[in-house]
Order: sequence, then C-alpha cells, then structure tokens
Amino acid sequence: MTTFAAKTLVSQEYKALPPEVLKAKIARKKSEWGKKLVILMHHYQRKEIVPFGDHLGDSFGLSQKAAAEVEARHIVFCGVHFMAESADILARPEQHVYLPNPYAGCPMADMAQIEDVFFAWDEISRLVPADEITPVSYMNSAAVLKAFCGKNGGIVCTSSNVTKAFNWALSQRPKIFFFPDENLGLNAARMLKYDPADIIVWDFKKERGGNTPEQIKKARLILWKGYCHVHTNFRPEHIEEMRTRHPGVKIVVHPECIPEVVEKADAFGSTNFIVNYVKEQPPGSVIAIGTELNLVSRLADEHPDKKILDLSGQTCPICVNMFRTTLADLAFTLDCLGEVNEIIVEEDIKKDALLALNRMLEFLK
Ligand code: SF4
Repeated sequence: MTTFAAKTLVSQEYKALPPEVLKAKIARKKSEWGKKLVILMHHYQRKEIVPFGDHLGDSFGLSQKAAAEVEARHIVFCGVHFMAESADILARPEQHVYLPNPYAGCPMADMAQIEDVFFAWDEISRLVPADEITPVSYMNSAAVLKAFCGKNGGIVCTSSNVTKAFNWALSQRPKIFFFPDENLGLNAARMLKYDPADIIVWDFKKERGGNTPEQIKKARLILWKGYCHVHTNFRPEHIEEMRTRHPGVKIVVHPECIPEVVEKADAFGSTNFIVNYVKEQPPGSVIAIGTELNLVSRLADEHPDKKILDLSGQTCPICVNMFRTTLADLAFTLDCLGEVNEIIVEEDIKKDALLALNRMLEFLK
C-alpha cells in the first residue's frame, strides 16, 4: 500500500501568515534549491499558487515532465493524491515526491477501492474466465489499481487516449473491465459505436454489481459505477440555456461529464484539450466551458479578448480537493522538504503499476 513518509502535516502556524510572507518564503526556497526542486501545478489549482509551478498541466503530462528533469531531487505536486502517486511511480530512484496538502484526495478515485475491485474481479471470473477480460484503469485511480491492471495484462489510460486504450484492450481479449469513471467509459463507448446492449455498469454495493449472470457473460464492456462530482454538475439544460442566452456560443466540456452533456457540446476533451481549444478560438468568441471552475476563471483572465463562461452558471463546479492546497501548505512543505508530506509508493506496487503505465506509453501513441 501507499504510505506517506515521516509526518503528514498541515501547519497551523503557517496558515496564520499573510500571503505576501508565504509567497516570499516559496520564492526563496525555489531560488535556494534551483534545478534540484521542481513544482508541478495541476490546471485546477488555486490562482495564487499557480505562478509558482515550474510546469502547469494535467496529471500524467506533469509526472512525465518531472521524471525527465534529471537534476531534480524533490518534486512537489500541487494536485491530488493519485497524481503524486503517479509522479512517484514514474520518478527516478533518487527523486522524492511530495503532496503539499496530505488531505487532497480524489473522491472519484476513492470510489474504486482495491478490495471492491478484487471482489468484483472474483465475481466476474466465476462466470467469465479472467483471461478473457482486460482491466483498464483511468489515470485518476489509486496506484494499487494501476498495479492490478499491470499484473492482469491491463493498461492505464488518460481522458485523451481512452478510445485507443479500449481498442488495444479489445485486441488482447474480448471483454474490458474499466474503472473508476462510468461516464468516461460511456463517452468512449459512444465514440467507438458500442451497442448499448453490450455495456453493463458494475455497482459494487450490489450482488454481482447489480447484474444477472447472463448480462455479465454477454457484456463486452463492464464499467465501474464511479463519477466525478465536479463534472457531473453539468446538465444538458445548461447547454440549452447557454445557447439561448448567447447565440453562437462555443461549448467545450470534459469527457467526465455525463454523455447527454458531451453529445450536446461543440467539442469535448481532456483538460489540455480544453486549454488549447480556448486558445484557438478567434478574438471576440464566446466560449462556455464545462470543467473545474478554477481553470475556467484562469482561462478568462488569460483571454481578455474572449468571453469565457462557466457552463453551469450557478452550480459552482469547484473541486474542493484541488482547492485544499494553499500558499501555506506549499510554503510549509518547501521549508520542511525531506521531513513532511512525502508520497512513497511501495516497490511491488510501483513495479506492477509501471507495467500498466508503460503499456500506455508503448501502445497508445
Ligand atoms: S475534478 Fe473530479 S476527478 Fe479531478 S480530482 Fe477533483 S474529484 Fe477527482
């Protein structure tokens, strides 16, 4: 299992310090460590800490960038737990990875606990031989799930290569078991023109996931019943309302949104896709975005020549876990590097998870 090394702390003393003091502390540490320190910044982080990132991006791209920084000894990931785990899996042996706020988890990743996945795998394998199923895990999952995929001939995917992952998985075995995001799985299945009758959803709280033995035997795609509470905020009505209020509006959403939203949008794709989509629209464009609010509001600041709107209008789609990491957490972690908030993935988990990640790099180009 994954563990934190040494202490996991959020400093009350640092929380009481004014922002300018904290910013000065962070800047000082960055300059003291130079290239030996790399700060990774996910797109959904608070505005005030984003400028301190050496790299800004999505989870997998950031981890790859950090591992490529050969001089870096300390990698601080301003994001959530599974991201820091992935960075540690991809890191060189001499690199240490930290999560500045140890309570920043991902509720969707937590919806697929390894014990429940093992149990489901056992139940399915009683009806279908395990060597007929390829497990596929979304990047937004715990290291143990990635390791489960590695060990069982499976693969990891991101929101940008999920359809390639499904095609690869099907080239290996006739069935796919995908977790933890049902909506991403449904959106990929729609793009790949799956027959809905070939898809079942696995609700781990129910016996056989809520399916009959016949349904399990027949299914080509088994989707874990997990979801992102941020992206499922967006509803088809929001799109209709937006089009009425702003004729000509371009609507772009993340594929963790429900399929009814993705179908009605003008475009959909990963966080990086959304960032580039906004860049590519001509000045004067009105763009409504269905993703995390911190990114939407930063894009609005970065593109004053375009009107950028939150698609939901009023439901406030904030990822509270991404929002947990504050200037105080970052300053404190940098001041105590090597002592607090380090993420360490156990070696056997790391080895198997790396297998699944490397398959993604090798087969999903
Ligand atoms: S936005 Fe959704 S998927 Fe991303 S970290 Fe937050 S809860 Fe998890």
